Amino acid sequence: MVSRVIPVDQFDLVIFGGTGDLARRKILPGLFRRFCAGQMPPDARIIGAARSDLDSAGYRQMIREAIAEFGGEQACGDEQLDAFLAQLEYVTIDALGEAGWSELQKLMEGSDRIEAYYFSVAPSLFGDIAERLQKWGMADTRARIVVEKPFGRDLETARALNKTLATYFNEDQIYRIDHYLGKETVQNLMAVRFGNMLFEPLWNSQYVDHIQITVAETVGVGGRGEYYDKSGAMRDMVQNHLMQLLCLIAMEPPARFDPDAVRDEKLKVIRALDPVLAHHIVRGQYQAEPCNEAENPGYRTAVDNPRSRTESFIALRTEISNWRWAGTPFYLRTGKRMAARSSEITVVFKDTPHSIFGDEAGSHRNVLSIRLQPNEGITLGVTIKEPGPGGMRLIDVPLDMSFAETLDPEDIEHVDAYERLIMDVIRGNQTLFMRGDEVEAAWAWTDPIINGWVTRNDVPKPYDHGTTGPTDAEDMIRRDGRKWRKITQ
Ligand code: NAD
Repeated sequence: MVSRVIPVDQFDLVIFGGTGDLARRKILPGLFRRFCAGQMPPDARIIGAARSDLDSAGYRQMIREAIAEFGGEQACGDEQLDAFLAQLEYVTIDALGEAGWSELQKLMEGSDRIEAYYFSVAPSLFGDIAERLQKWGMADTRARIVVEKPFGRDLETARALNKTLATYFNEDQIYRIDHYLGKETVQNLMAVRFGNMLFEPLWNSQYVDHIQITVAETVGVGGRGEYYDKSGAMRDMVQNHLMQLLCLIAMEPPARFDPDAVRDEKLKVIRALDPVLAHHIVRGQYQAEPCNEAENPGYRTAVDNPRSRTESFIALRTEISNWRWAGTPFYLRTGKRMAARSSEITVVFKDTPHSIFGDEAGSHRNVLSIRLQPNEGITLGVTIKEPGPGGMRLIDVPLDMSFAETLDPEDIEHVDAYERLIMDVIRGNQTLFMRGDEVEAAWAWTDPIINGWVTRNDVPKPYDHGTTGPTDAEDMIRRDGRKWRKITQ
């Protein structure tokens, strides 16, 4: 089995913020890998547009260095790199002024290719760039814009941003990126759910005891302290990544795998989410690593705000009020400086209604675990007889659907989420991008939770570096007679 690479049509991709961290670390190295794979047409143009005073030669050198640093093992040799870099151009531009716009317009003039504009800049610039694209005649119906997160900081700002973008572009031209949706396993989750008869009949409150979604990071806030302290785990992770995963695991089967059918179903999930009760949510803030405070300071030191009340950890329980899920708890958890880097969705099935093996056989549950990172793969825990003599002793063993082992590694093309999503933009496929009403509905659910903390002057609970968060999070799930999955690498 050899993976198929279908080249995309000719395109011009303008990357506003083309000299920034995201462009250098993810977007350009990702595009180079698509070039190496033969997916990027040889005449496609990538135009970096940013504030730095560079010419195209200087930009190519910057991206050569970025690819050397972040390009990964799939980089395909010097000759190919030169050919890729030859497709790059650069315009010094001011998103807030007029400098550079006529030069960009000239570059884009007369082209009948697909035009995509990636807004890889601070969200405060999204509206200005959209406005100038229109003013300079680049916002025609062929144009597509890719908008980075965060998309607003609450319902009001998200609505305002949607309204601004809608002034210049139609919804089918706007690609709101959530890179979690570009991950291989996330798409595999849909294949497993809707491509097999096996799971769907069991995918409801009658057979599922509860679902857990964990996104744990070992890193702290790093250099993003100022931004993060105004945002926190709820805005930075839950409102987008975790809620998107929740939607995919809980949604009804869409009639077709097409953008609006999928996004309609995701929206219904968000709208059916129950409000979160105050005792069903735990916020935390990480402490410094003992004896290594200089290297791994506590949250408040890292963000340079000794009185900060922003959370670096969240654990919450919610329910979905619809026929499929009523009564099934969904536990969401995310945090920084935790025991291991691990993103996992776990579906825990109910006990068998009666054990024919007696009490000594113990309680055994089927657990379907979908790992996003690291070691992407899906594992189904099944109960079998422990081999050998000595009676009927039951053990749980994993039925491992790890792609790396099942499929020939030579045949698996590891595609980073960003490069997959950019190719989807060029193909004009919005299935893995968030629609405006979805983003607003997600804020409508998170806003009251965040406002509740503000009103109550809520202070996050401290938790130790390298742990699973505050002990209150363990207590919260224990009160329900359940426990969190272990966070392991
Ligand atoms: P960055 O600060 O590293 O880069 C910002 C870019 O914007 C630079 O190229 C800069 O020249 C350009 N810029 C700034 N002001 C400008 C102006 N007035 N006119 C024209 N260009 C201007 O930022 P980043 O980390 O690359 O993030 C870019 C976007 O991506 C942000 O919205 C961020 O929230 C989002 N994002 C970044 C990451 C990441 O890992 N870096 C992850 C997720 C989302």
